Amino acid sequence: MGSQGQAAATDDTTVCKTTAATAHFVFVPLMAQGHLIPAVDTALLLATHGAVCTIVGTPATAARVRPTVESARKSGLHVRLVEFPLDYAAAGLPEGADNADNVPVEYMQSYFEAVALLRAPIERYLRANAPFPTCVVSDFCHPWTTVLAANLGVPRLSFFSMCAFCLLCQHNVERFGAYAGVADDNEPVVVPGLEKRFVVTRAQAPGFFRGIPIPWWEEFADYVERARAEADGVIMNTFEEMEPEYVTGYAAARKMKVWTVGPVSVYHKRGAEGTLAARGNAAAIDAGECLRWLDAKDPGSVVYVSFGSIARAEGKQAVELGLGLEASGHPFIWVLRNADDYDAAARAFLDELEVRVAGRGLLVRGWAPQVLILSHAAVGGFVTHCGWNSTMEAVAAGLPMVTWPHFTDQFLNEKMVVEVLRIGVSVGVTEPLMYRAAEKKPTVVGRSVVEDAVRSVIGGGEKAEERRRRARALAIKARAAMQEGGSSHRNLMDLVDRFKTAS
Ligand code: UDP
Repeated sequence: MGSQGQAAATDDTTVCKTTAATAHFVFVPLMAQGHLIPAVDTALLLATHGAVCTIVGTPATAARVRPTVESARKSGLHVRLVEFPLDYAAAGLPEGADNADNVPVEYMQSYFEAVALLRAPIERYLRANAPFPTCVVSDFCHPWTTVLAANLGVPRLSFFSMCAFCLLCQHNVERFGAYAGVADDNEPVVVPGLEKRFVVTRAQAPGFFRGIPIPWWEEFADYVERARAEADGVIMNTFEEMEPEYVTGYAAARKMKVWTVGPVSVYHKRGAEGTLAARGNAAAIDAGECLRWLDAKDPGSVVYVSFGSIARAEGKQAVELGLGLEASGHPFIWVLRNADDYDAAARAFLDELEVRVAGRGLLVRGWAPQVLILSHAAVGGFVTHCGWNSTMEAVAAGLPMVTWPHFTDQFLNEKMVVEVLRIGVSVGVTEPLMYRAAEKKPTVVGRSVVEDAVRSVIGGGEKAEERRRRARALAIKARAAMQEGGSSHRNLMDLVDRFKTAS
């Protein structure tokens, strides 16, 4: 379509009314909800501490966060969202495929190549539109931003919405060659270089973009690793008090400064239903309706079930999950991302289930206002795929979790929740459920496993009570970290202070 490079900025008059010694962070998030949402929240948090922030995005992706950014601008924050369309035709991408959740897996390479071509138009835009940046904050999946930052003559920080535990485990496995000589992807390997013993497999923690049997991805993984090693620092959506040894350990292993700034979802204040309902995408359910439904339930009685923005399941799995939730006897909100793809039998099952559990079970077909739901007192547990944002949102809400990892960092996040923080119960998935060889059928988690896990997390008993106590105590620490005097608050202020100028 040849429109690449024509940036469309939101009105930026407020952004320009800043003094020369103001930090100006340019955020280059990955165009995927799990990367974009925390990057936007972090930008808005920095802006509340006086920074100017420019967030770049592709059109369909930017549209999802525009309401949040606009509302921040109306409240006086110096933040702008600038769109850069991909050249779909040249990249061989389906028109409009500009977000990881709508790019078919076979087009992923083209997608990453097309996104990298945004460097020149972004650079042109930044040179032409004051104020000049003082720091690039780019998602670790964008190694080409090394050139962007170098051309602009400013430092570059890698942005991760991941925990330090996961990053350190992954780093150590690679640094110490832990998989050398391991023939089977499912062979247990002890993560080297840690005080405590954690066992992983290559299937669960292959390394970012590793293990794909296509040479382009191996080269891309190396490029990503070089860019990470050369960064001027790291911003992470986690907080020091939750995992001090891993934050310190990762900073030492990488020999770079780590700023922990989470949980970043706390940017959205309780009571701000409007912005929370629109966080990350337009919700498929009215926020008011959702809150009224929750208001009618007993405190801590509802289980919330969601597998994030990318994970998909087959109809067979949905049936087992639905039966397990029904059998648990607890009220539930279940977010179904791809129910339209299910076979006729699974779709019919869902319709019948909805009738059977009317009043007790709420099915959301599409995007749910997740943080709004998790912060409601009626919610007592979260069945999660362990995406790091969802995990941090549950931590901030003080909720125990049923852990059900699907792919990438989610297996290490599960270890964090179950073994380090001890606030979760696993359903026992041991191999990735997605992005795997087509001939390998994913495991189906049975209804009785779901029922037992939900009952043990949300039900009575000493173990469940202890888990809840630990989760609540952690939430208090999480909130303290974000308040004045807290570690994340301090780190945000330090970033704004340190990057006032590019030098
Ligand atoms: N999310 C949401 N509603 C949904 C699904 C997801 O608000 O229906 C948000 C969720 O709160 C989180 C993000 O999308 O902030 C998902 O990120 P995560 O790291 O948990 O998982 P991913 O989508 O990257 O697998």
